[in-house]
Amino acid sequence: MRPDALNSLFVETEALDGVGPKLKRPLEKLGLTRVRDIVYHLPERFVERRAVADLDEAQVGENIIVALTVQEHRASAGRGPLRVMTQDALGNVCAIAYFGRAAYAAKKALPVGARRWVAGRLDQYGQMLQIVHPDHVAEDAGALAGQVREPVYALSEGLTQGRLASLVAQALKAAPELPEWCERGLVERMGWPAWREAIERAHRRPDGAARDRLAYDELLANALALMLVRARNRSERGTPLVGDGHLRQKLQLPFALTGAQQRAIAEIEGDLAQPAPMLRLLQGDVGSGKTVVALSAMLVAVEAGAQAALLAPTEILARQHHATLMRMAQGTGVEIALLTGRDKGRARESVLMGLIDGSIDIVVGTHAIFQDAVVYKNLALAVIDEQHRFGVSQRLLLARKGRRAPHFLAMTATPIPRTLTLAQYGEMDVSRLDELPPGRQAIDTRVVSAERLDDVVGALARHLQGGGQAYWVCPMVREQETDDIAAAEARFAELKARFGDDVVLVHGQLKPELKDAAMERFAAGQAKLLVATTVIEVGVDVPNATLMVIEQAERFGLAQLHQLRGRVGRGQAKSVCLLLRGAELSETGRKRLALMRETQDGFRLAEEDLELRGGGELLGTRQSGDTPFRIATLEQIQKLLPIAHDDARLLIERDGGLAGQRGEAARLLLYLFERDWGVQLLRGG
Ligand code: ADP
Ligand code: MG
Repeated sequence: MRPDALNSLFVETEALDGVGPKLKRPLEKLGLTRVRDIVYHLPERFVERRAVADLDEAQVGENIIVALTVQEHRASAGRGPLRVMTQDALGNVCAIAYFGRAAYAAKKALPVGARRWVAGRLDQYGQMLQIVHPDHVAEDAGALAGQVREPVYALSEGLTQGRLASLVAQALKAAPELPEWCERGLVERMGWPAWREAIERAHRRPDGAARDRLAYDELLANALALMLVRARNRSERGTPLVGDGHLRQKLQLPFALTGAQQRAIAEIEGDLAQPAPMLRLLQGDVGSGKTVVALSAMLVAVEAGAQAALLAPTEILARQHHATLMRMAQGTGVEIALLTGRDKGRARESVLMGLIDGSIDIVVGTHAIFQDAVVYKNLALAVIDEQHRFGVSQRLLLARKGRRAPHFLAMTATPIPRTLTLAQYGEMDVSRLDELPPGRQAIDTRVVSAERLDDVVGALARHLQGGGQAYWVCPMVREQETDDIAAAEARFAELKARFGDDVVLVHGQLKPELKDAAMERFAAGQAKLLVATTVIEVGVDVPNATLMVIEQAERFGLAQLHQLRGRVGRGQAKSVCLLLRGAELSETGRKRLALMRETQDGFRLAEEDLELRGGGELLGTRQSGDTPFRIATLEQIQKLLPIAHDDARLLIERDGGLAGQRGEAARLLLYLFERDWGVQLLRGG
């Protein structure tokens, strides 16, 4: 049960004035569903404005507050803006421009002849001074007195800064004082405010101490939760699994295992033989051969008379894993089934039956495999591929499927810097596949200016002519970015015009059936060229595809580029990766591409990526998609996470599991960050 002290934070946003069904949507888009989320929707930055007497005092590009008198409304032809022509006290002319529907309201707010206080960014349009969509227009100076410094929040369509700021103000009013969960000595040493004050300050001004404190809270909550999982796991009874090897002997692999694979398998077998459930992470670069390690572990479970499940993050990957395992396990007699959200009716029923009666030994699927309807006879091992895509709580959900807690093996090909490994996987033991199977050739990586597109297409034509397959990757920074989809579709049309029906397209907004059909054609060699957004990032294995072109490569992060490039270089043949770069290349973009050319070591690239992204942000507010954190930035993680971990350990070990006053406060913290499953573990729930 959530402590009452937090009730006011966990009511839905609709409890706030002005939030109805219409505003709920854009808020949800930002992940804001409860008052708590709004409290934690911290400003991305602040605008600092200067009040000036006239425009002579102001610089172009500066944010100002100035009094202007309206002379005329000047409409443009077609879809151009409405320009409200004004003059300052000295007679300097300044246009205030409004595009689209904003023009209607503007005419009212800025009637001809009126003098208004305007807050906005001064720009230049040709020879004319201009303010486009001012932030505020007021009748008297007093109304803008508080707007000299203003927070800027991340928005979604349908929201304005003003609206969001007023919701934040309401949410802050609802926020209670909370007891201190941080160690007093630390708070004093760091000069941190208490929680309530930190929240207020973080919304009001750039405040390093307040932001650090809030970030630390998040890191501490995470560290505590992970340690509780670990402590619980150590005390839990699982099923010791010892196989007699009869199935593994029947495996007919076309290769010898690498030393790294053998080590990982030995470590896993050691864990499986213990009564405490295994919690192990298998980290290995793309192509390092994690699948066969997973199979080997699952066969131990089957040899011991139990079942194993393999969870994949996507439909495509689940199907591919299923096919791969079927192929590898041929002749062992092991029953391997596939279960995804798309399997319906009889097929689904028959898998469900097989899992209950134990005739299925191994099931591969998407999260469909841990829905309530799925009951196992004896699930003893759960393997999760691309673990970072799933939350820890999902793991626990899965864990409840067995009569006893199943052993747990997570796999990831996302190379994670050491600092983040602790944050992400603090509770797990780690096996690393730090050696690629022999015979892999380095991928010839080149950076090519996008102006040489014709040459690139020519090289592609020769490659396809020679019987090779290829990937063409178009950037899609966000899942729903329609411009990016349009760009991918346009490129697809062009390439199809040139290469005919041998070209298929896959992107994030495609229906799953179409996506799979295209992938399958490509995997089967029927399609020669796969045009795709980053959906091919994870797992796809087509050894005959040895050329990859990545458009606007500078828009991708290093880790992502590395993942993408890992799609080629999977067979014996030499592979090429062409990174097309745009004309405008930032310093960071340039460094990234140079690093890609220089190394193929995923762990090194991950460290460099962190380095490149970590520093230099104004408020340090840029979050990383690869961390489990919403508030803590990469920089804060590096600085504060080790402290949070030590603190969490002390708190749990010394106080015997969150006892005492500080322990109580720490429970509150776990609820606040929704790591409350940690508290439930503590209770033995
Ligand atoms: P990962 O999942 O780690 O990216 P996979 O398990 O898909 O890698 O393996 C990549 C490719 O390497 C597969 O085609 C697999 O059959 C092959 N492979 C795995 N282990 C070895 C090995 N020891 N020697 C040669 N090839 C291997
Ligand atoms: Mg894999």
